Amino acid sequence: MGRTAGGSTTAQSPGRSERAGGRAQRPQQERAVTRSVFRYLRWTMAPETAPEAPEMVHELECMSCDAAADPSEEFETARDWAFSHTGQHPSHRGYRETVTRFWRMAPTGGERP
Ligand SMILES: [Zn+2]
Repeated sequence: MGRTAGGSTTAQSPGRSERAGGRAQRPQQERAVTRSVFRYLRWTMAPETAPEAPEMVHELECMSCDAAADPSEEFETARDWAFSHTGQHPSHRGYRETVTRFWRMAPTGGERP
């Protein structure tokens, strides 16, 4: 008991969560006024320059089975995996690549104190 045999990856969704019908009534003494000050800024989006952020991460998945290459910063690594995978499974010829890039927003004209 305890261990589950096999590698089932079927995700079973738990029963639907149901919302309580009707709206909760708010106590009438809550009369807080929210004031917001908006400062309009222009933004510039540029590639993330943090040293820990790779320029790109390549992921290849086989379209015939669930096999996938480990995410890699080098496309050649993912491509080599695909050659190897098709070599072992000649009927698996289609791949889907997902590329992840990191971006950062910054106020145009720089940060103001
Ligand atoms: Zn495959």
